[in-house]
Amino acid sequence: MKSVETLIRNIPDFPKPGIQFKDITPILANPKGLSDAVDWFCKTIKEAGECDLIAGIESRGFIFGPAIAKQMNKAFVPIRKPGKLPYDTHKIEYELEYGIDALEIHTDAIKSGAKVVLIDDLLATGGTAAAGCRLIQLCEAKVSSAIFLIELDFLKGKNKIEECNVYNIVSMIHY
Ligand code: AMP
Repeated sequence: MKSVETLIRNIPDFPKPGIQFKDITPILANPKGLSDAVDWFCKTIKEAGECDLIAGIESRGFIFGPAIAKQMNKAFVPIRKPGKLPYDTHKIEYELEYGIDALEIHTDAIKSGAKVVLIDDLLATGGTAAAGCRLIQLCEAKVSSAIFLIELDFLKGKNKIEECNVYNIVSMIHY
């Protein structure tokens, strides 16, 4: 979608040399860009079908996730960096494009058997999204689709998500 694509700013060598960081803050600063991005997520989720709730990954999944959930009249479940969630959690460690991290979800965040759409701003190596999928699956729920604004195709992150038996993977903009 052109209006959104033109609002993505490339920052070379952030947060470390060699990384081409895709800065989405210009999308947020532009009411039409933000609205188009949220509308695209909602349309894509509707087309994909099965969606009981939206799960988003900290930090930028928290920007789009609740806006999408509100527009679709669904609940939003936060998947957070370690040590942030106050109740009992499931935890998964994973590799980033730049380092190692972990994610957590509340053990009671999702009902067994629920159909969950996982969203984030960007799919790079897929480690983050795969960890998100596994956390949802630890809640005995199904990841019906994984949806991103941006995908760095050359890092083949889709493969890592498919290893979690999630095959409906859609991104708006591909680099
Ligand atoms: P990955 O686990 O490698 O797929 O990384 C995805 C997560 O890291 C997403 O939550 C992104 O927000 C962030 N990320 C990774 N690479 C980039 C990049 N080149 N530009 C912006 N964000 C990135």
